[in-house]
Amino acid sequence: MTIMESETVHRSAYTSILPVTLADIEGASARINGHIARTPFVRSSSLSDHTGHSVHLKLETHQPIGAFKLRGAMNAILSLDDAQRRRGLVTASTGNHGRAVAYAARELGVPAIVCMSSLVPANKVNAIRALDAEVRIVGVSQDDAQEEVERLVEARGLTAIPPFDNVDVVAGQGTIGLEILKDIPDLATVLVPLSGGGLAGGISVAVKALRPQARLVGISMERGAAMHASIAAGRPVAVREEETLADSLGGGVGLSNRVTFALCSTLLDDVILLSESEIAEGIRHAWREEGETVEGAGAVGIAAILARKIELCGPTAVIVSGGNIDPKLHRRITEGADA
Ligand SMILES: *Cc1c(COP(=O)(O)O)cnc(C)c1O
Repeated sequence: MTIMESETVHRSAYTSILPVTLADIEGASARINGHIARTPFVRSSSLSDHTGHSVHLKLETHQPIGAFKLRGAMNAILSLDDAQRRRGLVTASTGNHGRAVAYAARELGVPAIVCMSSLVPANKVNAIRALDAEVRIVGVSQDDAQEEVERLVEARGLTAIPPFDNVDVVAGQGTIGLEILKDIPDLATVLVPLSGGGLAGGISVAVKALRPQARLVGISMERGAAMHASIAAGRPVAVREEETLADSLGGGVGLSNRVTFALCSTLLDDVILLSESEIAEGIRHAWREEGETVEGAGAVGIAAILARKIELCGPTAVIVSGGNIDPKLHRRITEGADA
């Protein structure tokens, strides 16, 4: 079913048969409360003036690891039983998900291994090591690292925490939806960065359950938008990976996706794609007008508004998903360099 066709069907009919429910998200909220930051949700006067509607920024840049991924990782780890916690965790992510797993594991006293290939840059390796996770260097590709994850699950009974396609992870990310609706009950539009769809899927379940008339819009980069291509194809498909300023939005949705494809293809009202220079403008605006250091993936909601790729129709929430950008790249962009 396409997004357009789903418009004609009452949303709540869907939310009852989807793999993640409002109850899952409310449970996650109670579980992770006190373990994660309730992040600021601030009015942007520049974007509100620009659009004529009240625009608020949900600043997940203010989570301890600088990105929302802590919510899902924390919920997934808190949902494990004692034996699983004793055996420990494993992941192959070197980005924000890897940091989230390492941070949450340390907070909860659970051992964690992050597998990565020998090609991962030193700053990423060090960021994970600084959070006390064991780093295991294997092979020369992300696939090699993922194979080692599967081997450790098999051989030592470790628990793999996936970056998005997992009910507990999605429910954790969905807690953002509860927070923004508590602050602005009459939300009309939510702009969400979109990659594997854990963030957009979780927020959509919460918002559509509590405020069905709100519009959920996913935003990706033109260069390698896997969920956009999958929704268009009606099934998970692979896309070519390309370099992009929104590096945290790279990667596929998984050809045997079980959770997030169903959520995103059912609940998202629209998906917008952005050029690299539009994303750069979002990073620049976040720095100059909002005083926030935001990575490319985190700036796409702001960028979509500035590029006039979305027409707002009332109170709007922009999810600013993360701030982990190489400082040199950030300086180049904010000083005016194009993508
Ligand atoms: C992971 C990530 C996203 C995308 O989240 P998905 O659940 O994979 O769609 C967006 N922004 C940042 C900063 C991220 O780290």
